[in-house]
Amino acid sequence: MALPPLVEPAAELSVDEIRRYSRHLIIPDVGMDGQKRLKNAKVLAVGAGGLGSPTLLYLAAAGVGTLGIIDFDTVDESNLQRQIIHGVSDVGTPKAESAARSIAEVNPLVNVVVHNTALDRDNVKEIFSQYDLIVDGTDNFATRYMVNDAAVLLGKPYVWGSIYRFDGQASVFWEEHGPCYRCLYPEPPPPGMVPSCAEGGVLGVLCASIGSIQVNEAIKLITGIGEPLVGRLMVYDALEMEYRKIKVRKDPNCALCGDNPTVTDLLEDYEDFCGAVSEEAQEAITGSTISVRELKDWQDSGKDIFLVDVREPAEWEINRIPGATLIPKGEILSGEALAKFPQDKQIVLHCKSGVRSAEALAALKTAGFKDAVHVQGGIVSWVNLIDPSLPSY
Ligand SMILES: [Zn+2]
Repeated sequence: MALPPLVEPAAELSVDEIRRYSRHLIIPDVGMDGQKRLKNAKVLAVGAGGLGSPTLLYLAAAGVGTLGIIDFDTVDESNLQRQIIHGVSDVGTPKAESAARSIAEVNPLVNVVVHNTALDRDNVKEIFSQYDLIVDGTDNFATRYMVNDAAVLLGKPYVWGSIYRFDGQASVFWEEHGPCYRCLYPEPPPPGMVPSCAEGGVLGVLCASIGSIQVNEAIKLITGIGEPLVGRLMVYDALEMEYRKIKVRKDPNCALCGDNPTVTDLLEDYEDFCGAVSEEAQEAITGSTISVRELKDWQDSGKDIFLVDVREPAEWEINRIPGATLIPKGEILSGEALAKFPQDKQIVLHCKSGVRSAEALAALKTAGFKDAVHVQGGIVSWVNLIDPSLPSY
C-alpha cells in the first residue's frame, strides 16, 4: 500500500544543498521534490544507542532538516562495540550531546534538537508533538509501550526496531493506516522471560542491519515513495542471513486502537505494566534481600555462606565475585541443580542486576531453602560499590 508523503516540500534547496545531495537528486523517485521534503522533515530518534546510532547518522547524511535526539544516558565504554555515533573521547558524556556532535560533523546543515532527559509520561506527548515522525530504538518494554501509546494517541507514525543477539525485527506502526505495536504484542512478556541486550548480549553489526531498515522506511514515509512497512513485520536472522516479512493485521480487540479501546490515555506507570520482576519473585525477595555491603561484611566476618552466581557461563568469564560458584538460573528453575545446594549453609544468590537472582530465589524457596537470600543490584552493584577494579559489561 503506497501512502502519500508525510511532509510538505521546503521552498527551495540552497546551492550547497544541491551539491551535497546530488546523488539523491538524480534518482527520479527522490529528485528535487523528495529532497525538499526531507529538508522540511522533523524526525525524533528515541534513544541514541545501538539502533539510534546508525539511524541518526544516515538520517543526517540524507538531509533530514530537523533531527531530535532523546536520551538520558551517558556514553559507556561497553557501548562502543555497536553505538558507532559515539567515540572514545565521548565516554562519560551525555549520549544525546555526543550524538549531536557527530551529526554536526556529518552534516552541519541539520538542525539538531537535544533532549537530554528521560522520556516519561509527563513529557512524551509534548516532545512527540514537535515532530512528524518518530524512530524508536528503545531497548526496554516499558518505554516501547509508552512510545506506541503516545504515537497512537497523537496520530503519529513511527518506525520501530528491536534487536537481540542475532535476531532483529522492524515495522512501521501508524494507527491511521494499519496496526499498532499492541495489535502485534498485546501484552508485554512475563518479566525475566525476554532478557535485555545488557543481560543477553547483541551482535554489534545487527544494529546497522535493523537501523538501516528503519532509516529506509523513514525516508519512504517522508517522501511518499515505495511501500512502507505498515502492516508488515520484518524479521531478520543474521545467522541464517534470512529476512522474512510477516503480515500483521489491525486487531479489532486491541486495547488501544481496537473497536472498544480500554486504554484511552497514557498509563500511569509503564514500569509497573511491564513488571520489573514477576509476582512470585517479588514475594520471594521481600525480607530476603541483602546489599552488596552486607555480602562483603558476611565474607569479611568469615560467615559460612554459599554464594551462587546464577548468570550464564559467558558472563562468568567476564567478571565474578570472589568465592562464588556458578549455577545458571535455568538449572535452578528446572530443578536439576538443586542437589548442589548445601542444607547447612547460608545460601546467597546473585546475578548481573538482581532480576534473575530474584526468580531463582523464588524457585529455591519453593524447593525448601527458606533462608536463602539474594543480592540487590547484583554484580553491577558489587563493581560500583565494592570493587571498581573488576571489568563491567
Ligand atoms: Zn492496536
